Amino acid sequence: MANAPQQQIPSVFHRRVGDIVVTAISDGFLDGSIDVLRNISQEEARQILTDNFRPARRTAVNAFLVYSAGRLALIETGSGNYLLPTAGKVLANVKAAGVDPADIEAVLLTHMHPDHSAGLTDMATGKRNYPNAELVMHENEPKHWFDDAKMARGTDREKKLYFQAGREQVTPYKDRWRLFKEGEVFPGVTAIPRTGHTPGHTTFMVSSGNEQLLIWGDTVHVPEVQTARPEVCMEFDTDQQAAEATRRRVFDMAASDRLLVTGMHLHFPGFSHLVRDGSGYRLIPAAWEHAL
Ligand SMILES: [Zn+2]
Repeated sequence: MANAPQQQIPSVFHRRVGDIVVTAISDGFLDGSIDVLRNISQEEARQILTDNFRPARRTAVNAFLVYSAGRLALIETGSGNYLLPTAGKVLANVKAAGVDPADIEAVLLTHMHPDHSAGLTDMATGKRNYPNAELVMHENEPKHWFDDAKMARGTDREKKLYFQAGREQVTPYKDRWRLFKEGEVFPGVTAIPRTGHTPGHTTFMVSSGNEQLLIWGDTVHVPEVQTARPEVCMEFDTDQQAAEATRRRVFDMAASDRLLVTGMHLHFPGFSHLVRDGSGYRLIPAAWEHAL
């Protein structure tokens, strides 16, 4: 008798960008309420999701290994055990991809939200999950999330999940922080800050030869809704107006330059192209590639 599988094989997908290999690593997914959307009615948002065969606001959570010039970086660490049991799988999937976490030289963050930075440290032991990695992030991120006056103005949820979680996760790396403003932060990986979602939210352009991949971080959280309606923001954007302006700039660049893109919240593995569609945009998944 053939036993039907009970769970997915660990989610790992490789993609070549010139001489660089980028490996998408799934953290899992988070299902949540649509009442965190802004600039759209709940009815409209629900209709867009239904039209796209999405039963819920399902947020994929992705991280990316970058193999470049004989070196290895990890962009984002997933959510650890801070959010839901359907996520928190980056460390296990990094190992399933054949990588020893001790071999990762640098962890790059797009920003310090718990679905990105909460897999840095094992809170049960206080030990770094990536013991030899430097922690590379925009200088505005720790500046903002370590600001007690800003934390005092947050809701209880923001205090706990954004400020406190961020602080306790990045502190064990304190002697190995490398803070940037912009520019090349790893061979072939250029940081392009796109602030709004958070004060230091950053996208990463991976370039090698004449190939490019834009890892656009949290430019979108709900791809079906926010590509069609770029004005839609999230309750947890630090600055919603700036987040919308940033999203429009990134979309315009991706569509005009016909860029290959992926993101932390595109459905795994996320490699896609963005095309204009009416007053908004639409994502087209990239073709499957077998050979590396
Ligand atoms: Zn996120």
